[in-house]
Amino acid sequence: MAFVADSKSPAEAPENALWFLVHDKRILIKEEQGDYLIPQSSDIKKLSLAPTEKEFFGSLDGQPCYVAELRDGVQISGAFSFVGLRTLFSQFGEDVIRAAGMANQLVRWSHNHRYCGKCGERTDNKRDERAKICPQCGLINYPRLSPAIIVAVLKDHQILLAHSTRFPAKFFSVLAGFVEPGETLEECVKREVSEEVGITVKSIRYFGSQPWPFPDSLMVAFTAEYAAGEITVDHSEIADAGWFSAKQFPPIPPKISIARQLIDWFSEKEK
Ligand SMILES: [Zn+2]
Repeated sequence: MAFVADSKSPAEAPENALWFLVHDKRILIKEEQGDYLIPQSSDIKKLSLAPTEKEFFGSLDGQPCYVAELRDGVQISGAFSFVGLRTLFSQFGEDVIRAAGMANQLVRWSHNHRYCGKCGERTDNKRDERAKICPQCGLINYPRLSPAIIVAVLKDHQILLAHSTRFPAKFFSVLAGFVEPGETLEECVKREVSEEVGITVKSIRYFGSQPWPFPDSLMVAFTAEYAAGEITVDHSEIADAGWFSAKQFPPIPPKISIARQLIDWFSEKEK
């Protein structure tokens, strides 16, 4: 299935619309004969759910996708349950995960921008684009994106992998970090590598990108070559780091992440 993000809404949600309903950071799913599904319009009627602030946000293989937040007092049962995004990762394919990530991000943004940050007035949804506008002072807020770099540093048929204190599980991955105001992506790559493991890098090349909904990142991936220095772990963000050959990897991140795509790219190159 292919997910395409879009904000130009059909007038009414059709019968086959998919509903990404978010309640307390979790998404409503349906289980049917061992398969996991995203609920459709008929399911929402059956459950007598009244989602507030529903919004069209794209389509999955031509099926329109709507997102809405379910506030307190939600009663569900039977085949339906709420699951966290990370659980969803193990139950659905890549495109449903992307849609669910976007849905979660939109709800969070909408929820956090109900009031104007400048004058405190209640905001409205802007009609012609996805944004919140203040009727009092005119301040416009777009959904927040936090760009972050992620980089595979290579040295003599080895890749730099580190265990971050922020990782939810005990695995090693490539280095990553948020871009700071006024910084180019390349400068961010150099700074993050230097801060986290104390080495310098060269030949920085773009690899690809991935929206990452924890909570609103856009991961921009690069490859780079080792230039100089010895690995010195900073211990505040990085607990352990080292050079690994493709034959002796430690536990690495799950398939879906661009971190894993960088590591797989290195493995493939070393074959
Ligand atoms: Zn205002």
